[in-house]
Amino acid sequence: MNDPKPNLVGGVWLTGEAVANRNPSDLSQVVGHYARATRADAEAAIAAAKAAFPAWSRSAPLTRHAILRKASDEILARRDQLGRLLSMEEGKTLPEAIAEVTRAAQIFDFFAGECLRSGGELLPSVRPGVGVEITREAVGVVGIITPWNFPIAIPAWKIAPALCYGNTVVFKPADLVPGSAWALVDILHRAGVPDGVLNLVMGRGSVVGQAIVESTDVSALTFTGSRGTGEALAMASARLMRKVQFEMGGKNPFVVLDDADFEVAVDCVVNGSFFSTGQRCTASSRIIVTEGVHDAFVAAVKARMQALTTGPALDPGTDIGPVVDESQLVQDLDYIARGKGEGARLVTGGDRVARATEGLFLTPALFTECTNAMTIARAEIFGPVAAVIRVRDYDEALAVANDTPFGLSAGIATTSLKHASDFKRNAQAGMVMVNLPTAGVDFHVPFGGTKGSSHGSREQGRYAVEFFTTVKTAYQKP
Ligand code: ADP
Repeated sequence: MNDPKPNLVGGVWLTGEAVANRNPSDLSQVVGHYARATRADAEAAIAAAKAAFPAWSRSAPLTRHAILRKASDEILARRDQLGRLLSMEEGKTLPEAIAEVTRAAQIFDFFAGECLRSGGELLPSVRPGVGVEITREAVGVVGIITPWNFPIAIPAWKIAPALCYGNTVVFKPADLVPGSAWALVDILHRAGVPDGVLNLVMGRGSVVGQAIVESTDVSALTFTGSRGTGEALAMASARLMRKVQFEMGGKNPFVVLDDADFEVAVDCVVNGSFFSTGQRCTASSRIIVTEGVHDAFVAAVKARMQALTTGPALDPGTDIGPVVDESQLVQDLDYIARGKGEGARLVTGGDRVARATEGLFLTPALFTECTNAMTIARAEIFGPVAAVIRVRDYDEALAVANDTPFGLSAGIATTSLKHASDFKRNAQAGMVMVNLPTAGVDFHVPFGGTKGSSHGSREQGRYAVEFFTTVKTAYQKP
């Protein structure tokens, strides 16, 4: 299809004002043009989804299974091409992008299976002769609003269960990454999703997103993005008594104890903090290290970081791709300046660097001599920046790890069964990693956090059924 790539509303491809999608590895390169949806387009998409709901929610499970399977097959078959597109628009390295595309295919495959596994319960009533049937039903029109950092995996893990359980969808991807979203919707459309069941409205949060959030016809809203936007969406949704599911980031701790396997700990921190340019809500940004190993550990991480190559995402030698856009880069540099200003010591990185192409390259930054009260230890930076906090022992490490308004992921490197077990139980986070990076999670198990990170029921795996269905209890007397 020619540029600008159009929106999909009620099964019709709708064109609109063309917006350039730029490559953060080379700002002179336009990845493609995409049509910007208007408020009226979003309202038409919601109406189309509402009209399509009765038939789709009653469609045969095998129909839904076949469509999701077909989509999965195409995504997998085209993973190199889709990975390249993702890498060009978002800036993660090609291997990271191909892995993300593969994950999207696996998610569609998983939920294709779930279409055939939905069941209910049959219980005897307390009244003789009466039966009680407990079943799950689709919720209705689901609004899906996604961020830029996982342009295909996050849409996949929201769209696949929404369609699997019989909901219809209005999907608004992040403005920065329409390419992967468009490709995914095109694949699903050609795989046979009926008209109106899946609608794509690319555009501004304040226009298109707002129209979705304000609509009384949107029965459920699933959002991944920043805490501030999440709060505004939660308030608007509360007035409508709508079902919501929000993922809003983290300030994830990674604890390194004196008894850790040193190489495992270094790997976990370098990967968890800096891969994908630190632009993961599960990235480790507070590295909490006990004093016996602190200095040697910092030296080893620093050496490993200095061996990383920051550069264009598609270059085979690149380890760390660019920052996604200018405003995120300004924000990262501002936090780095604040870290220095508050007395932390920058031991390596944190420099904007020039490469052959005009890209947004920032070398990964490591701070030491940090306290957990500093801005760089409290705010979610969403860049390749980590703060090392020195502690006496495990008890202090756990207290510091939990002293944050967020609670998405928490990791520890230790060879002590006692400390690993205690950490799994007492870390205040939805996901806990022992001797593994805080980022990098499986597609078939629940994803989500506690405290300020998440609101509503879990995403992914079989737990997704909680959000995308409502329970019906039917009593029957013969
Ligand atoms: P990020 O830092 O990931 O861009 P945001 O919360 O700003 O986090 O954006 C996440 C998603 O929410 C994007 O798709 C964005 O367009 C959308 N969004 C932003 N503001 C609003 C809003 N007021 N109403 C609905 N959606 C919004």
